[in-house]
Amino acid sequence: MAEKQILVAGAGGFIGGHLVADLLRRGFTNIRAVDIKPLDEWYQVHDVNNIVADLRDLAACHTACDGATEVYNLACDMGGMGFIENNRALCMISVLINTHLLIAARDAGVDRYFYASSACVYNADKQVNADVVALKEEDAYPAMPEDGYGWEKLFSERMCRHFREDFGLTTRVARFHNVYGPHGTWDGGREKAPAAMCRKVIHAKETGDLQMEIWGDGKQTRSFMYIDDCLEGIRKIMASDIEEPINLGSNELVTINGLVDIVEDIAGVELQRSYNLDAPKGVNGRNSDNTKIQEYLGWEPGIRLRDGMAKTYAWIHGEYLARAEQEAPAAV
Ligand code: NAD
Repeated sequence: MAEKQILVAGAGGFIGGHLVADLLRRGFTNIRAVDIKPLDEWYQVHDVNNIVADLRDLAACHTACDGATEVYNLACDMGGMGFIENNRALCMISVLINTHLLIAARDAGVDRYFYASSACVYNADKQVNADVVALKEEDAYPAMPEDGYGWEKLFSERMCRHFREDFGLTTRVARFHNVYGPHGTWDGGREKAPAAMCRKVIHAKETGDLQMEIWGDGKQTRSFMYIDDCLEGIRKIMASDIEEPINLGSNELVTINGLVDIVEDIAGVELQRSYNLDAPKGVNGRNSDNTKIQEYLGWEPGIRLRDGMAKTYAWIHGEYLARAEQEAPAAV
């Protein structure tokens, strides 16, 4: 097992950092971790071969894939709705990362290639009602995905398929639905709803200013998958025979207001809510249909939102307090 040479692309990010930790826990030692960010900005730094490189560049991908037997592509220029609705071109440029990694993986004779796709590939017409019918894999077509980010994901999924069909590269594609947990982005503009809600509630509690702004009317519905379920899903899908893109998400549906209720309950506060109807809010409703993953694997993500959010809240609280202490003027 330790013989496998594994490349994790995007290892300085949220899911990539957790994946490296998971691979180490499972006994793999030959791990190459690559990210474009300087090492001191990686969310987790593990004792593996850590490399700073821009994987939009084909030569960098060839170097990264050299000798690799498995590749996990989690590298992407992305963020929550606030980022992807305002940075469509940047999101689409990530197509270079997956395309060049696929070419390099083929040239290196990689055994298996994993691509992290997204629920943002799904046709927008299927997501207009908050009272949503969960999305099945075939609902991605006819194509009308999230502009920018979703188109890049859909195109990259197809690149994986055609590299499998034309070049015999074994590719696996999971469509992640909103992943959350500790060691993720929690402020700065790229954070997603669960982390943003935790930060806002913590800030209100710590400052005594007991109010918060919610993007949209709060009635939008979503499902959120805790990072441990995501890691288990990646592991199972990578080892499986599933050739077509498959949902990897929780089907515990919640409104954004319901998510805030959970965070308030964890924090032991109740805030006055205001709704910003002009802020980016994404589709009205989205949930994961898990029929296919159940059929293939007899498994689906099952960690309850309340449990995952309690761990996420505790971690963000620690980060918030550490930062506040750093920024506090030194006592005289
Ligand atoms: P993240 O932003 O925390 O991690 C992505 C990492 O990729 C970052 O550290 C970034 O620096 C790196 N990166 C960007 N451009 C790069 C480049 N040119 N070369 C090398 N590294 C580069 O995001 P994440 O939440 O860990 O997401 C990982 C993958 O999962 C992404 O493909 C994302 O689209 C997908 N995904 C995530 C979610 C979610 O809810 N987190 C949902 C759906 C899909």
